[in-house]
Amino acid sequence: MKNADLPHTEGARILSGKLLSEQVIDRVKARVLQCRHRGVTPCLAVVLVGDDPASHIYVRNKEKRARECGISTVDHRLDGNISTADVLALVHMLNDERSVHGILVQLPLPRQVDAERVLLAIDPHKDVDGFHPDNLGLLLAGHARFVACTPKGCMRLLHEAGVALAGLRALVVGRSNIVGKPMAALLMHADATVTVAHSRTRDLADEVRHADVLVAAMGRPHAIRGEWIRPGAVVIDVGMNRLPDGKVVGDVELAGAVVRAAAITPVPGGVGPMTIACLMENCVEAAERFNSTPD
Ligand code: NDP
Repeated sequence: MKNADLPHTEGARILSGKLLSEQVIDRVKARVLQCRHRGVTPCLAVVLVGDDPASHIYVRNKEKRARECGISTVDHRLDGNISTADVLALVHMLNDERSVHGILVQLPLPRQVDAERVLLAIDPHKDVDGFHPDNLGLLLAGHARFVACTPKGCMRLLHEAGVALAGLRALVVGRSNIVGKPMAALLMHADATVTVAHSRTRDLADEVRHADVLVAAMGRPHAIRGEWIRPGAVVIDVGMNRLPDGKVVGDVELAGAVVRAAAITPVPGGVGPMTIACLMENCVEAAERFNSTPD
C-alpha cells in the first residue's frame, strides 16, 4: 500500500474503538449463546489484589462487559498485604476448577508479590490475557493460542482502517511483554517490515518519520510529536496517561498528528475498548476449546 492509497482527506480518519468493539462484542454474545446451548457457561475468574483505584476501575469495566456478553464472573479480591504463596494457591485452585475457563490476574500486583511467578502459574489454557510465556512463544512461532488483548485489538483497528500491512514499514514504540513484543510479532506475521523502538532508541523522531504504521505503547504523554508523523501514516495510540488534572491522553500529540495521519485512534475511546472486547473474545474461545475437549 502506498500512502496515497489511504483515505486521506482534510484530517485523519478517527478510528473509533468504541464502535468497533460493539461489533466484536455482538459476535462474542452469539458465541456465548452457542456455548450455553451446549450446556457450558463461559466463566472468567478475576483476581484483584490490593486497592489500586485504577485497577478497580479496569476490573469493574471488564466484569460489566463480561456480564453483558453472558459470561459469568467469579470475583477474588485479595488483601494488598497478601504473600506470593497465597496468590499462587488461589491460582492453582482456579486452574483445577472445571467451571472456570479464563483466569485474569489484574496487574500491577503489589511489590511483595512476585508477578512473574503468578503469571507463570496460570494454566496457559485459561490464560485469556495471553501473558503466559507459553502463549507468547506460540504467538511468536505463528501458532497463537491466546493473543494478548491489546495487540489483538490494535490489529483489528488496523484492519478496520483498511491497511494492507504487507510490505509496509511498521514501527512499534515499546517492547513490553504485554503490548510491544506481541504487537511486533503480529505485525511481522502480517508481513509488515517491523521496527521496535524503546527507551534506548537513539533517534525516535527519525524512526517515526519513516513509519507507514505507528503503534505507540510507551506510556509517555504526548511524547510523539505530531510533526514527526509521516503524511498518510496510520497511527494506533495505545498509551493511557493520566495528567495531573485527571485528563487521560495518549503517547501521540493528537492535534499535530491528526493533520498528517490518514487514520488515528483517539485516547480515550480507541484501543481501550478494543482491549476489553478482545478479552471477552478470548474468554469465549477458552470455553469453546474446553467444550470441545473430551473429559
Ligand atoms: P511498559 O512501561 O511496560 O513499557 C513501556 C515501553 O516504552 C518500554 O519498552 C520502554 O522502553 C518504552 N519507552 C519508555 N520511554 C520511551 C522513550 N522515551 N522512547 C522510546 N521508548 C520508550 O508499558 P506497557 O507496555 O504496559 O504500556 C504502555 C502504555 O500503554 C501505557 O501507557 C499503558 O497504560 C498503556 N496500555 C494501554 C492499554 C489499553 O488497553 N489501552 C493496555 C495496556 C497498556 P524500555 O523497554 O527500554 O524501558
